[in-house]
Order: sequence, then C-alpha cells, then structure tokens
Amino acid sequence: MRICNTIEEMRAARREAKRGGARLGFVPTMGALHEGHLSLVRAARASCDVVAASIFVNPLQFGPGEDFGKYPRTFEEDCKRLEAEGVEVLFAPEAAEMYPEGAVTTVTVSGVGDRLDGASRPGHFTGVATIVAKLLHVVGPDRSYFGQKDAAQLAVLRQMVRDLNFNVELVGCAIVRDADGLALSSRNRYLSETERRHALVLQRALLRIEQLIAKGERKSSALMQGGMEVLLAVPEARTDYLAIVDADSLLPVTLVETGTLVAIAAHVGQTRLIDNFLVN
Ligand code: AMP
Repeated sequence: MRICNTIEEMRAARREAKRGGARLGFVPTMGALHEGHLSLVRAARASCDVVAASIFVNPLQFGPGEDFGKYPRTFEEDCKRLEAEGVEVLFAPEAAEMYPEGAVTTVTVSGVGDRLDGASRPGHFTGVATIVAKLLHVVGPDRSYFGQKDAAQLAVLRQMVRDLNFNVELVGCAIVRDADGLALSSRNRYLSETERRHALVLQRALLRIEQLIAKGERKSSALMQGGMEVLLAVPEARTDYLAIVDADSLLPVTLVETGTLVAIAAHVGQTRLIDNFLVN
C-alpha cells in the first residue's frame, strides 16, 4: 500500500492509478477503523480497479468542546487492516497540509446541512462538506463510498456533489452492527460496559418503529410516540433527536413511505451516538 502524506504525492498516485482508464474507488475515513469502514473498502474493491482510502481526523468538523483531542488515533493498526483488504493507496495528510495558514474558503450546504446533526452541531456539516470536497479534488475518484450510518452526512454530500457538479458517483453502504445490534462506531470505544447497555436503546427504538410500520402504521406522529416511549425508558440515554424525514432533504414527513429516513441521535454519558434505518 502506497502511503501519501502530501497532496502532491496523492496526485501522482492518482495519475498512476487511473492510467489506462482504470476505475478508482475512494473511501474517506477518520481512522480508528472497524468493520463498518472495511465494508466500504470491500464495496469499493468489488466494483473498482484501484482502491484508495484516506485517514484524516478533520478538525473543521468538530465543534468547540467536542472530542477532537481525544478522538481515537490507531494509525499503525489501520494501515494493517487496509493493506489486508488490498487497498493500494492511502492518503494520510497532516492538518497543515489540508488547511495551510491563510485558507479561508469553506463549503456550506444550506438547508439540508442545517438539519438533524447539522442543527445539533452547528458548523459540523460545513466541516464535513469542506474536507470531502477537498479530498474529492485531490484523490479524483470515479466512485466514493459512504456509510448509511451517517445518513444526514450522505444527504449533505449528495446535495454538494449535485450543486458543484463533482464528477463522482457517491455510493451509500448499509450500516454494519455488532453482535448485540449496536451500530459500529469509532466512538463506541468511549462507552463503559454499562453505557454500552444503555446505548442499545437507540436500536430498540428503531426496531419498535419498524414493527409499527410493519403493522401498517404510517403516521409519523404515532411512530414518533412509539419510538420516544422506548427512548424515555432509558433516561441515561439523552435523546438529541428522533426524526422521521425525507432522506434527501431531511425535512419531516407526516406519513412514511418507502425510502423515508428514521434517525436517532442520543448522548450516553459523554458519547454522542447516532443510528437510523430507511423504510422499505
Ligand atoms: P468516520 O471514520 O466515522 O468518518 O467514517 C468513515 C465512513 O465510514 C463514513 O462514510 C461512515 O458513514 C462510515 N461508517 C462508519 N460507521 C459505519 C457503520 N457502522 N457501518 C457502515 N459504515 C460506517
């Protein structure tokens, strides 16, 4: 695996990777890799000739008082895992490489970027859109892979790619869960054993809503009530939002239909967790 620390190195690797019309797949990450990240790498591997990944803990998407300083950094292990999956190129720049002094330009996706996590974490999606725009420019992939786990992020990035005419296909990949149902996240390692038990309420609330839909309930108000009952039974999990929204605009819907997004964010102890499903 070729590790590129600078934009120049990455551009050279890209030129080589795409020689002869090879299709380049790209998986951006913040590292602390788990099976969720690796599922994106495998999806890229399955449909692209060359796979590139990036590891960059993006300071711009963390708010003041959030966990940027303590975000897990496990670079050596991450490299081994990516190498074992056959990733050819890893882009791992320092913060100063991506944000040199004097850089002032950002990408803000209005509307959709201000909803769900964008509402709870002001500026978060500007940080995400800015770094993903920069990474897409530098890496230049044909396809880029993102987890459905961050459903709002995916909606924001799809809007950005449309609006700014990026020549890339975004591929959304299913949520990977642990055996107990908890959606895999780099932040799960912050959870104590007790907190982890409390965290399972997110998945339970989603399952309750799924069951209600399976029984024929279509009204968001009734579904929200059913979900909130489950969430409120575990006060240690402090709900940030429970949302039933259009998956593209992230605007609330009154009646669910196929493709509607049901999403939850909650704090358990100091850790903010998210989970969701798409109605089928
Ligand atoms: P992160 O390193 O948290 O920025 O995540 C990098 C990518 O992995 C994003 O596209 C996430 O949506 C995706 N991802 C994170 N957790 C999971 C998961 N449990 N299942 C599928 N994809 C995931």
